[in-house]
Amino acid sequence: MTDFPTQLFIDGEVRRARSGKTIAQTNAATEEVFCEVQSAGVPELEAAVDGAQRCFAESWRDLKPGRRAEILFQIARLIRDNTEKLAQLESRNIGKPISDARDEVQLGARVFEFYAGAISRFYGQTIPVARGGLDITLRQPMGVVAAIVPWNFPFPIACWKAAPALAAGNCVVLKPASQSPLTAIMLGALGSQAGLPAGALQILPGSGSQIGDALVQHPAIRKISFTGSTSIGARIMALAAPELKRVSLELGGKSPNIVFADCDLEQAAASSPMSVFANTGQDCCARSRIFVERSIFDAFVDKFIAATRGLRVGDPSRDDTQLGPLVSKSQRETVEEFLSSTKAAITGGKRPSSKGYYLQPAVVLNVEPTERIWREEVFGPVVCIRAFDDEKQMLAEVNASPYGLSGSLWTNDLKRALRVARQVESGVLSINSHSSVHVEAPFGGFKQSGLGRDLGMSAMEGYTELKNIYFAD
Ligand code: NAP
Repeated sequence: MTDFPTQLFIDGEVRRARSGKTIAQTNAATEEVFCEVQSAGVPELEAAVDGAQRCFAESWRDLKPGRRAEILFQIARLIRDNTEKLAQLESRNIGKPISDARDEVQLGARVFEFYAGAISRFYGQTIPVARGGLDITLRQPMGVVAAIVPWNFPFPIACWKAAPALAAGNCVVLKPASQSPLTAIMLGALGSQAGLPAGALQILPGSGSQIGDALVQHPAIRKISFTGSTSIGARIMALAAPELKRVSLELGGKSPNIVFADCDLEQAAASSPMSVFANTGQDCCARSRIFVERSIFDAFVDKFIAATRGLRVGDPSRDDTQLGPLVSKSQRETVEEFLSSTKAAITGGKRPSSKGYYLQPAVVLNVEPTERIWREEVFGPVVCIRAFDDEKQMLAEVNASPYGLSGSLWTNDLKRALRVARQVESGVLSINSHSSVHVEAPFGGFKQSGLGRDLGMSAMEGYTELKNIYFAD
């Protein structure tokens, strides 16, 4: 018996899966299974979508905006009240350092607050059409939306899909990743406690390979909002195509960190390690390719490695830990395969202990741009650093990636910052900073990093259909 829910959350109550199947949850720091979570099959998926559809038609769609906002504000309050419990669960479930887990729970609460407030600021237009009369636009909810979430930032990503979708008047069927379902189940329970009608937010832990296709293809699902790998995102898009279902996809990345010689070198070098190693590198925005102007290359690398050595890798339950273990045995093996695929010089990258899926951060110098480790998303604590001489040539290499999610640019030359920022093919870019996520601003990728945007008002628009209504004089 656990003191947190481990079942499906459907129609306002916890339920067991009819098949009796469960998914084992392993503590990445100790390698021990600490609980089993019920795994939804197709019957539970059908029940969840039916219940969400009923809730949409009978309750949530037509609820007064003021009441909808109150409920979302109340969810935020309950999230804040349960910060420690949620953070402890997340940390145990995926090995996330407890201080990061606490910050991410707070981020989830802020997301609910933002969209609760946004409900009364989500306007249509009045359009002066040529023939007179009155032309207005309405933003209408779609119906039932499927939200599919990854394991690297389970709680905040669940919030940044559920909150705008609910705020716009949709009901949500949320499938957490098999490795990290615990905080999502708690979110379902807190939503219900806050006053969400039964069926508005269904939480469906279950294997993506077993229920993913059925969820995406269910005729009542109007939109799929997915965060995860590019390969599964492409599959979802293909499955959604026959019925022209709406999709938004937040996918992989191989983001650049571009460091010009005129930057604040101390600040750039001191802050760059955590721009790639935070969350043990399991971050779609990880700045895993660093381009350094040659005249400061050696100085930057020395300072970067010194700062990396200062990072505290260890037990994720300790308040001062900065990097925990990788999420699983197989994730660590994948990262190690990348490291063994290159002949370039590597600093770090060793297993520091015999227990837990730990790996020291690895710095790889001067790899060839043709190498896998430079081109593909590693999703672990690995950075490649290369020198550049020419801005144009560097930009060509930056943009040679099929990805285009995020990135950073370090320079004190304003004109250069603007010129280069315009040319980097990415959906998010920070100048003299590594900050990628702002609740109020759109987040998403170019090219194979995705389609559509999470966060900001863009996300809320993405959970609506735009209707134009004309009134004759
Ligand atoms: P993943 O394997 O694509 O899984 C993501 C989610 O999709 C999980 O819930 C998974 O369920 C589910 N899934 C698996 N197969 C499915 C199918 N056939 N149909 C529907 N859903 C299916 O990705 P991941 O390994 O969890 O996450 C890492 C990836 O996510 C990285 O590439 C990272 O860059 C990307 N990511 C992107 C962003 C962003 O905002 N751009 C943010 C975070 C992560 P199971 O767990 O049950 O397999």
